[in-house]
Amino acid sequence: MIIAKQKDMTEIAKMVAPYSRIYVVGCGMCMTYCSAGGPEEVEKLAERLMAGREDLILEKGMIPRQCSEKFIERLEEKTRDFEAILSLGCGNGVQAVAMRFPDKRVLPALDTQFIGIEKESGLWTEMCMACGDCILWRTAGICPVTRCAKGLLNGPCGGSQEGRCEVSNDIPCAWQEIYYGLKRLGILDYLKTEVQIKSWSVRPGRLAREELKPQ
Ligand code: SF4
Ligand code: SF4
Repeated sequence: MIIAKQKDMTEIAKMVAPYSRIYVVGCGMCMTYCSAGGPEEVEKLAERLMAGREDLILEKGMIPRQCSEKFIERLEEKTRDFEAILSLGCGNGVQAVAMRFPDKRVLPALDTQFIGIEKESGLWTEMCMACGDCILWRTAGICPVTRCAKGLLNGPCGGSQEGRCEVSNDIPCAWQEIYYGLKRLGILDYLKTEVQIKSWSVRPGRLAREELKPQ
C-alpha cells in the first residue's frame, strides 16, 4: 500500500491562497486506508480551510481511486465551476488528475511517503521502493534496498551491534535478518553469489498492459 501524510496546514493554505473556488477530493483506496485522504480527512481539511477564509467557496467529494481514468472522469462535472482541485491522493493520483485537467490548478494536500505495511494499528513501515528488479528470492523475503539503511546488496556493512543497525538502535540490521532467514531456509549458499549492482536506468517508468502479463 502507498502511505502518505497530510502536509502542514501552513503549506496547504499557501498553495490554495490564490484561489477562492476550490474542490477538495479524497481517494478511496490507499489514502483512505492509511487515514491520510479518506472521507474523514477530506471533511476535516475542508473545515479547517473554511475556518481560515471567508471568501472561500468550497466543495468536497471522494472518488474510489485517483489513479484511474474511469474514476477521475467523475470529477469532470463536479469540478467544472472550480479554479483549483485540492487532491488528497498520493503523488500518482495528483498527477493523474492534473493530466486529465491540464487547465486547472491541481494541488497536492499530501506528502507521499512510501510503499509499506501496517505493523500495528496506525504504524506503517516502509518495505519496498519499487526498484523494478526484485531480489527478495535471494534475501529470504527481506528487502535490503529498503530495509538496510545503506541499501547494501551484498551483505552487511560490519557495523551492526547485537542485531541492530549501526544507524539506529531502533532498527533491526536487515542483513542480519537476511542471514538468519537464509539459514533457517537452508539456503545460506545464496550469500556466496554476488548480486549485480543495480542499474537504476532500467527501472521501468512505463509498462504496457501486455508487458505486465506473466510470460
Ligand atoms: S528488491 Fe526491494 S525495493 Fe526492489 S522490488 Fe523487491 S522489495 Fe521492492
Ligand atoms: S548495520 Fe545492517 S542494516 Fe545497518 S547499514 Fe549496516 S548492514 Fe545495513
